[in-house]
Amino acid sequence: MTDTTIALVTGANKGLGRETVRRLAALGWTVLLGSRDAERGAEAAAELEGDVHAVTIDVRDDESVASAAKEIEQRWGRLDVLVNNAGIAGERVPPVDVTADHMRLVFETNTFGPVRVTHAMLPLLERSTAPRIVMVSSGLGSIGVTSDPTTFASTIVSLTYPSSKTALNMITSQYAKALPRFRVNVADPGYTATDLNGNSGTQTVTEGTDAIVALATVAPDGPTGTFVDRAGTVPW
Ligand code: NAP
Repeated sequence: MTDTTIALVTGANKGLGRETVRRLAALGWTVLLGSRDAERGAEAAAELEGDVHAVTIDVRDDESVASAAKEIEQRWGRLDVLVNNAGIAGERVPPVDVTADHMRLVFETNTFGPVRVTHAMLPLLERSTAPRIVMVSSGLGSIGVTSDPTTFASTIVSLTYPSSKTALNMITSQYAKALPRFRVNVADPGYTATDLNGNSGTQTVTEGTDAIVALATVAPDGPTGTFVDRAGTVPW
């Protein structure tokens, strides 16, 4: 087994995930670039420098996730860092028109996806001497931020995406308690120009990945069960 740090980033064929892969590979790590589409993943991996490998993983699909875990076990033997980054904004539906199906669609990727992937990768992370999990959430998932009328986030009224991230935050907090040897933390990238928001975000992808990279590289005795953005602690 290799001594290098081995990281998997989901949803990494573009946007914040791709930039996270680029930055972690620049540290000399072996980085597995997760993509639900094999071709998009291979193209993105080929464009990046360092020890970057495309791994096909659709976070909505049990079989795809199981097969990615099997491939990682066979080729690399373990995982040190898991970045659950894949996410969708979902359809814009006025809250009063939202049905359970609208909710299910967004939760399937943003909330159940990270649980599906984490559950499948835990045996590989258990083999690490310094296992770390980063959940990519959002300030929109913070009840503290979205209920503060001075924030831009408080003006966005939506049932689906924000609540999918709020649930992810609680899931992370509970994983942190269940896995005391692990560092399990939540990153809020901040409003970043990517396809998720039609590139309307005000930050670059490098700024948007500062918190993700900080948590992916956290020390084995560093913080766990925290929610941070690039400026510091975010209220739950
Ligand atoms: P993006 O550019 O749209 O990238 C999203 C990535 O997730 C793409 O690679 C996409 O793959 C992938 N994905 C979607 N569904 C998937 C699935 N079922 N399985 C595997 N991959 C899937 O958006 P982004 O802004 O980089 O978003 C990354 C994360 O940051 C998300 O969790 C998002 O909620 C969070 N975030 C973003 C912002 C922001 O301002 N951009 C702010 C706060 C939080 P395809 O190309 O195949 O669709």
